[in-house]
Amino acid sequence: MFDLAVKNAHVVTESGVLDAGVYVKGGVVAALSTEVLPAQESVDAQGRILFPGAVDPHVHFNDPGLTEGEDFYTGSCAAVAGGITTVFEMPLTNPLTEDEPSFLLKKSEASKKSVADFGLYLALTPDNATHVSTLMALEPIGFKAFMSYSPEIPMVKDGELLTGMHAIAAANSRIAVHCENNDIITHLTNQIKSSGRNDPRAYTESRPPYSEWEAVQRAVTLAKIAGVQLHVVHSSTPEGAGFVAEARAAGHPISVETAQHFLFLDVEDFQRIGPFAQCNPPLRGPENADRLWEAMRTGVIDCVATDHAPYTIEEKLRGKDSVWTTPAGLNHIQTANQLLIGDGIRRGIPLTRLAELFATAPARLFNIYPQKGAIRVGSDADMFLFDPEQEWTVDAEQTFYKQKWTPFHGMKVKGRVKRTWLRGTTVYEDGAPKGSITVKPGFGRFIPGRTGHAASPLMAAE
Ligand SMILES: [Zn+2]
Repeated sequence: MFDLAVKNAHVVTESGVLDAGVYVKGGVVAALSTEVLPAQESVDAQGRILFPGAVDPHVHFNDPGLTEGEDFYTGSCAAVAGGITTVFEMPLTNPLTEDEPSFLLKKSEASKKSVADFGLYLALTPDNATHVSTLMALEPIGFKAFMSYSPEIPMVKDGELLTGMHAIAAANSRIAVHCENNDIITHLTNQIKSSGRNDPRAYTESRPPYSEWEAVQRAVTLAKIAGVQLHVVHSSTPEGAGFVAEARAAGHPISVETAQHFLFLDVEDFQRIGPFAQCNPPLRGPENADRLWEAMRTGVIDCVATDHAPYTIEEKLRGKDSVWTTPAGLNHIQTANQLLIGDGIRRGIPLTRLAELFATAPARLFNIYPQKGAIRVGSDADMFLFDPEQEWTVDAEQTFYKQKWTPFHGMKVKGRVKRTWLRGTTVYEDGAPKGSITVKPGFGRFIPGRTGHAASPLMAAE
């Protein structure tokens, strides 16, 4: 007898879409079968699509210390309502996650609050590279470094980054890097500011595409020198992703994510929406999204990540009259993959490729596959049911975000998450007006980071 059967679904597996039932026992997928087998609970999927639970390799839940904007409970509720069952949380919290006490504090807060499974990053700072090997005992999912200024984490200069990369390579872990050229940005910002401009377009011009892809190219070069596994975060430019693709093709363990907001918003939206659409790197020109989609379709880009980065409404409104005072980051984890799937289907991207982008590829790159990232026998029964026909409109009030704003407010969406399971337990069920979370805070578990890495799925395919 199985614990759970999800019947009559189009099941998105790694090898194709199966019309079958998924049978779960003890929290893992026990069988995929076209036969009707006995189970304690049976769910009729009514021909909808069953995707593997998404693995989001890049979220900011602000916990501890910055919980006015979001905390691990509200952030993870929004995640599972958007089909995301595993998140990797960034170290830009207060205290900064850079040592054992700060890591354990975050782990304890997250363990009490999260309804999604979670891995935790450690910050690579100019000072902590010598501690990398001891910090590995904490089982971080990876390290995170900034090549440009951020108010929440000290940036690392090239020499410091290279030293850190050597240490992380020796520890057989991985580094995720925010790539922007700080010098170019500072120079252009001063120039544009002194001309008196403070509108969204001016902000975008202060961080042009080359200020990002130059830094991607440099990070890739340094990673090759150190022989470290590098993950380039939120690439907004196809050029930056191209440098990664070249290195990957040459056999280096280097990967790249883009973020969903670059696929659905551009600088014109930024101009219209204002501070609530401000992020780093900034929104790009109108043709950029089509080029990123092409890079995802053709395998230049490995995966997607939301980079959900909440701030309070008051903090965002600080930039109402001048973009130079807005903190950069967007609320959108709940809608990100719903938009991605709806538009991906419209663009003719195969369902298996979509699942690879938001689930299988990040799970492999961070070495938690096949426990996570796929619907296959033996894997955690993390999955979500998706109705590709339902049309709805994003309403910030009907989200689980602590701060009820999102740049996608008012956007029409085709396709909606109806139900999400984590390890075979329903964690979210859709319903008017916004659906409900069906487990207690703390249902989510810590996912220990493992050393080493699975080959990139893109490399494996060659
Ligand atoms: Zn981020």
